Amino acid sequence: RAKDLGRNRYCFYTGDMHAQAMAKLELEAALSRAIEREELLLHYQPKVAAQTGEVVGAEALLRWQRGASGLVPPGQFIPLAEQSSLILDIGAWVIDRACRQLRQWLDAGQPVVRVAVNVAARQFAAGDLDTVVAAALQRHGIDAELLELELTEGMLMSNPQQGTAMLQRLRGLGVKISLDDFGTGYSSLAYLHQFPIDTLKIDQSFVRRIGEVPDGEALVDAVIGLAHRLHLRVVAEGVETPAQRAHLLRQGCDEMQGYHFGRPAPAESLQAMLSQPRG
Ligand code: C2E
Ligand code: MG
Ligand code: MG
Ligand code: MG
Repeated sequence: RAKDLGRNRYCFYTGDMHAQAMAKLELEAALSRAIEREELLLHYQPKVAAQTGEVVGAEALLRWQRGASGLVPPGQFIPLAEQSSLILDIGAWVIDRACRQLRQWLDAGQPVVRVAVNVAARQFAAGDLDTVVAAALQRHGIDAELLELELTEGMLMSNPQQGTAMLQRLRGLGVKISLDDFGTGYSSLAYLHQFPIDTLKIDQSFVRRIGEVPDGEALVDAVIGLAHRLHLRVVAEGVETPAQRAHLLRQGCDEMQGYHFGRPAPAESLQAMLSQPRG
């Protein structure tokens, strides 16, 4: 009896594993066709200048319109894509689309701001990101200054030498570099000083603590100070409340991004914000 029970449990366990493996395969198969089926799209979230509230940039955030099941957020498929070379196709598609969007705004004579694109670890490690970026810029006739890449500390720390060389090539093109989710990854302050980057993005988990927990501002304030001391710009992400905004402004944070200013939305929404006279 005990043996039966054990075997049943075992079967149940493998059955569960099997279902999970099947679901993963299904998701992967669907994702691998998403580009050709034109199911991927970019939303844009504004970045505003802290002092004036003026929209000075936007982050492109990937979405997957998977059949009738609605918009799938990147957290639900990027990690899977990162397990294979699929992320390279998706990553190149994102860079191309961001440049194409800039070209459409320019052609329409509409206001244009710098667009930031997120880069995956595997995409950065592949070693040809500069070629991919240069090709997209050229294809759409876009000034490199209009493009920013958001990387994370871990991508640079896994191979600092190779990472620095890639950053130098990217900046040689004229592209801006931002360190995303700063403070959450494995970072080395010694290397931070050496990496050729332009901007630190304070992770939203730190911003959330402002006014919420005792000394909740300590990390945010320290990162702003560190960034400025290293002559880097600093952007706060996940700004949701007037209190967070006020604190960040007092501390001299350069730019802010978050639901308080605008959620990620289709390109037209960003354009509407850009065309609006400021009040
Ligand atoms: P991220 O680059 O740190 O992007 C910020 C995330 O925070 C976005 O989630 C954004 O919608 C969300 N967010 C912005 N403001 C607020 C706020 O005020 N409150 C809260 N609670 N959240 C806010 P999203 O779009 O789901 O993207 C999640 C992550 O997926 C991104 O984090 C990025 O790491 C990754 N990702 C998105 N697009 C791409 C892409 O094209 N390529 C790659 N490799 N990764 C991407
Ligand atoms: Mg980002
Ligand atoms: Mg982030
Ligand atoms: Mg993040």
